[in-house]
Amino acid sequence: MEKNIEFKKSLGQNFIFDRNLLTAIAKDGGLGKDDVVLEIGAGAGTLTDVLADIAKEVIAFEIDTSLKPYLDKVQEKHDNLKIIYQDFMKADITTFIKSKAKVIANIPYYITTPIVFKLVDHIDMFDGILILVQKEVAIRFASPAKCKDYGITSVILQSIFDVDIPRIVKKECFTPAPKVDSALCRLIPHNRYNISDFSDFKDFVHLAFSMRRKTLVNNLKTKYDKDFLTNKLNELGLDERVRPEDVTVENYIKLFNFLK
Ligand code: SAM
Repeated sequence: MEKNIEFKKSLGQNFIFDRNLLTAIAKDGGLGKDDVVLEIGAGAGTLTDVLADIAKEVIAFEIDTSLKPYLDKVQEKHDNLKIIYQDFMKADITTFIKSKAKVIANIPYYITTPIVFKLVDHIDMFDGILILVQKEVAIRFASPAKCKDYGITSVILQSIFDVDIPRIVKKECFTPAPKVDSALCRLIPHNRYNISDFSDFKDFVHLAFSMRRKTLVNNLKTKYDKDFLTNKLNELGLDERVRPEDVTVENYIKLFNFLK
């Protein structure tokens, strides 16, 4: 099949044909027979087919209608599959998904961050998200404080998800092979923290990391009173010279709730 496909680099088309790997990915996503799955970027339908073999229902988005002949073959096999030929970023997912769903997808890398933040905006719809992304991106998402990869997305994602990396997928597993290895990133919603306003919290984290080489107080003082900030940091046991990357997710939430 892969010999006949004209892969479009501009759409992030790096496909996986190894069924053992695809089955392992579905397992990493904890997929079961009662699950509704959202797949973003069905491609030639190889992962779609595995998902539809296991799950109750699969809703798969694909922007490239030239892949329809391949996806039609997968569609013929499964009554529980709905393929939507639309740009996922423009779609209103609430019209397609009516109950809690799992996301399992080998997503197009050129829009990783917009996809993740679209999913974050609909967090109540999902009980788990498993996405294949570039390895360095997965490491950033899962990174703990005090590590060089810890930053804005680490704090925002970990404030609402438990994030881990169940599997590295070598670049040779894709057709065509991309330049770098990939990793599965698993995001499981948790309700560990009470964040008074999530949209404001995201802005707060952006401001906190606006200048990475500056101290946290210097970044935040453009909006908040410096003495007040210093006092609150001290209450959290943090030094006023602390850097943005040295503050844990929990302390970011505490600080934000103090300042609200
Ligand atoms: N799931 C397939 C697999 O694992 O072999 C294909 C994965 S490939 C990395 C990503 C797929 O996303 C491509 O088929 C591409 O055409 C599709 N895609 C790219 N941008 C999209 C968008 N905005 N909305 C929906 N699908 C998109």
